[in-house]
Amino acid sequence: MIDEASLSAGDIRRIQEKAWDETIAHVSAHSAFYREHLALAGFRPGRPPPLDALPDIPPIDKSTLSERTDDFVCVPMEEVVEITTTSGTTGRALVVPMTESDMRRLAYNEYLSFRCVGLTARDTVLLGVTLDRCFIAGLAYSIGLRQLGCAVVRVGASAPQMHFEMIDRLKPTAIVSVPSFLRLLADRAGEEGRDLSKSGVTRAVCIGEPLRAPDMTPNAAAADIMKRWGVRVFSTYGNTELQGSLCECGAGRGGHAHPELTLVEALDEAGRPVGAGEAGEITATTFGVRGLPLVRYRTGDVAAVYSEPCACGRVTQRIGPVVGRKHQKLKVKGATIYPSTLQAVLDSCQGVESYVILARSESSLSDAIEVVVHCPSDEDRTICRLRDAFRGRAKVVPGIRCAQKAEIEALQMPEGSRKRRFFVDLRGNAS
Ligand SMILES: [Zn+2]
Repeated sequence: MIDEASLSAGDIRRIQEKAWDETIAHVSAHSAFYREHLALAGFRPGRPPPLDALPDIPPIDKSTLSERTDDFVCVPMEEVVEITTTSGTTGRALVVPMTESDMRRLAYNEYLSFRCVGLTARDTVLLGVTLDRCFIAGLAYSIGLRQLGCAVVRVGASAPQMHFEMIDRLKPTAIVSVPSFLRLLADRAGEEGRDLSKSGVTRAVCIGEPLRAPDMTPNAAAADIMKRWGVRVFSTYGNTELQGSLCECGAGRGGHAHPELTLVEALDEAGRPVGAGEAGEITATTFGVRGLPLVRYRTGDVAAVYSEPCACGRVTQRIGPVVGRKHQKLKVKGATIYPSTLQAVLDSCQGVESYVILARSESSLSDAIEVVVHCPSDEDRTICRLRDAFRGRAKVVPGIRCAQKAEIEALQMPEGSRKRRFFVDLRGNAS
């Protein structure tokens, strides 16, 4: 097992060159898609591309993977032990078949991440995420925590009362959950006069929603969780197709990649690397995956990748906060903006209880954005405050409409959806 904290940049390069060679050999031997893809890029079977040739292999995207999944899969069905899927928020859910060794790799990824967070075998951890419905995250956390030797309490992503009961009985030291659920738990706790900051939970590992502004400072959700729970928060970037996550260390300067498992790049629209610290489309290569390995996979998530040493001493790659999904980029009167920027304003605006952002096509140059908000008291003043905040922080003022909570709830969670949406794309060209 590698001690990541002691790796030099040279060590990482050597580890990745070896992992790259193994991955290329594996996909060349077993994936019909990659055999064809590498040949089209000019690499003959006897002369596999070295890691230096990575920029010469065209990146692939979700639509290619979705259309030709079977041609990507490198193992026969009898080796598959678990099938997970993507959330399907941008079309049909992708199917990711995993082998026993992929499960071990997944556990190892999370084991490393939780170690990075500072958890040890002495910790008792509430698992407050969805464990079924084909999601990979809950499964990954569960087996990763177990590998670390933590006591895992699988309460799941509902039932606040059960969370409180387990907090009282088992005195957990950490919780893994989605930020909005941690805030809901804090609301419920407040209603019954319970003080979660005295619960003994010291760390919250979060997934699914942003915790940091692009400059890495805690956003409104993170600040709220830190205050009401009295915990340190750790943000995680996860992706089903990559079969792993990148989690922050205590320095909170981006999620650390594990070099023997994942190589990340940030690319511009043309597929070229963006400048250091600039946001680009996260494109990743998985190492050690047997079932569905990916080489230069465009995730659709836009974030910056950092390679300079972290304050924790690790020199592994880090990924900054996701500023948006590539296809969610909005054009407003010549400016470009991601829904996450609008969300950050809405999250921190006093008086806004719930909201949803709607985007419609207006013209080829501009999108129409409507923010539907529920403000239970002092509607006029809240709207004024919100308008000022958009003008100051997002440089764009969308249309604002007030609505009842039920209407917003229906827009956020349409029938059959697995994930709450704060942004609904009604533009015709949305993928
Ligand atoms: Zn670090």
